[in-house]
Amino acid sequence: MSSNDLSHDGVAGPPGANLPALRDHNAALVLGLLRAAGEEGVSRRELAGRTGLTPQAVSKITARLRADGLVAEAGRRASTGGKPATVLRLVPGARHAVGLHLDRDELTAVLADLAGEAVAVRRAPLAFEEGAGQVLATVEREVAALRAQAGGPPVLGAGAACPGPLDHTTGVLHRVTGAPRWDGFPLRDALAERLGLPVVVDKDTNAAALGLAQGIPAGPGSFGYLHLGTGLGAGLVLDGGLYRGPRTGAGEFGHQTVQWDGPRCGCGRRGCIEALCLAAVARGDLPGAARALGVGAANLVELLDIDRLLLGGRTVLEHPEVFLKGVAGVLAEQARTRGRAGEPVPVALARGGARVVADGAAELVLAPLFGRRRTGLAAGRVGPAPA
Ligand SMILES: [Zn+2]
Repeated sequence: MSSNDLSHDGVAGPPGANLPALRDHNAALVLGLLRAAGEEGVSRRELAGRTGLTPQAVSKITARLRADGLVAEAGRRASTGGKPATVLRLVPGARHAVGLHLDRDELTAVLADLAGEAVAVRRAPLAFEEGAGQVLATVEREVAALRAQAGGPPVLGAGAACPGPLDHTTGVLHRVTGAPRWDGFPLRDALAERLGLPVVVDKDTNAAALGLAQGIPAGPGSFGYLHLGTGLGAGLVLDGGLYRGPRTGAGEFGHQTVQWDGPRCGCGRRGCIEALCLAAVARGDLPGAARALGVGAANLVELLDIDRLLLGGRTVLEHPEVFLKGVAGVLAEQARTRGRAGEPVPVALARGGARVVADGAAELVLAPLFGRRRTGLAAGRVGPAPA
C-alpha cells in the first residue's frame, strides 16, 4: 500500500482530507435523510423519529453539520400536535465530488454537488488501451479545468470508473480485456497522487448501478444494469445495495458462456455473450444483438429473481428502441414458460444517458457520506458500517 490510507470504504487520500463529521455513522444517517428529503427538508423531530436517535443526539449532530455548512435551517412548518418545527435542508453546493468515466476511447468528467447533480461536465478523447501515461495526464488536465470552471466549494474526492476486472478495495486493475498493460496497475493511488484528492476506483458498471440506485426509494429492491458499449457488463443492486462480490468479481455478465463452441471472445474463451452481442452489432444485425442481450438478461432473472432491468451504454443509446424491444421480447417468453404470463420482468432505459457512468462515479465518493438504514447482506455492499 502507498502512503494513502485505506479507510473502511476504500477511499484513499491524504490524512485529514475527509471531514470528521462525515465519517460518523449517525451523522451519515441524518445526512442521508436530509438528502432524500431534498427541497422539502426535515425537522429535527422527524430526524429523531426516523433514525431512532435521541433528540439531543440529533441536535448535536445537526449543529455540527450546520457549522460545517452542510445543512441549513429553512423556515418552519406546522408539525403534528405541537408548535411549528424548524425545517432543515441539505446544502447541495457545500461540497463537490469528481466523477470520472474512463472509457476505452473517451474520458467523461463531471463535478457533482452533494445532491449528485452535475454542476460541470467535460469530455476528452482517451486511448485507454495505450496505458497509464496519457490517461493520467488527461485526467489531471480535465479535473483542473472542471474545478476552475465551477470554482467554489471544497472537493471531497474523485470516483474513477473504468472497465473491469479490478479490485475495488485496493484500486488495482486486473487483466482488462484488450488492455493487458493495465494488469496490476495501482490506479487509485496513482490518481490520488496526481489529483491531490482521495480517490475510489470501481468498475464502470458498478458505478452506474450505484448512481441509479440513488433514484430509488431506500429499502429492498433489486435491479440489474446492463451496459453495452465497447464491451458488455452488468451492475447489480440486490436488496437495496450494490453487490460487488468479495473480489469485485460480480457482474461479469458479458463473459457468461452461452455457446460453448461459439466464436472466440476477447477474454480468451469461446461463446461468451459479449462476443455474440458484439459480433451481431458488427455485422449490422441489431435485433440479433438485442436478442443475445435478452438471453443474458433472462439468465440473470432466473438466477437472482431481480425486480427489473435497466439498459445503457453507447451501443444501446444509439438504437434504444431495438434493444428495449429485443430484450423485452425474450423476457416475455421467459414469463410465459414460468407460468407468469403478463408479468415479465420490466426493462427500461437507464436515466442519465451517456453520463450514467460518470454521474455514478461521483456517487462512489458521495454515497458513503449518506447513510441508509438497511437490512440484509453485508459483504461487498456499499453503505455505512453497522452502528
Ligand atoms: Zn469472454
